[in-house]
Amino acid sequence: MKIRVSDITEKEKNLSGEEQLSLYPTLLQVQSSGECEFLSPVGFSLSIAREYDHIRVNGSVNTEVRLSCSRCLGEFSTPITSLFTIFYTRSEEDIPEDEVELGETDLVSASYNGDEIDFADEIAAQILLGLPYKPLCTDDCKGLCVTCGTDLNVTACSCSENDVSLVFSPLKGFKVKQ
Ligand SMILES: [Zn+2]
Ligand SMILES: [Zn+2]
Repeated sequence: MKIRVSDITEKEKNLSGEEQLSLYPTLLQVQSSGECEFLSPVGFSLSIAREYDHIRVNGSVNTEVRLSCSRCLGEFSTPITSLFTIFYTRSEEDIPEDEVELGETDLVSASYNGDEIDFADEIAAQILLGLPYKPLCTDDCKGLCVTCGTDLNVTACSCSENDVSLVFSPLKGFKVKQ
């Protein structure tokens, strides 16, 4: 998503749409690393205006991804949404890139060269920020039993009840008798 700087005025301009993942090499990289699979195109909604000595972009991005639960290893899909505000200044001013967390919204400073701003990097960065660090299929996922590997969301196991489960454990020969 690009915009000509000379088209940006003090009157807010709204841009929204969807773009295919192929336009976002960083997201493709994350997908090929196996961290997640993108199930929908990247949706964005930006409002852009000139303000003082910078260009302010308020935006939101969204997509849908398939992740592996960090507790039960089950796959699940979840929407990813990220809200942000970016202040773009001309790079000649050499203002260092900085990022400040402000509640639900990320405030980001970025710079541009020439007469065009390309939002692709920031959109990709915001999508990645929206990915959970420790994905959970549900907030109260019970995970896998550390002893027998049973998915405790599906069925209970009897590991906590004495040693009944040793019958079902492929590693029972290595266990120390209790
Ligand atoms: Zn889970
Ligand atoms: Zn168990």
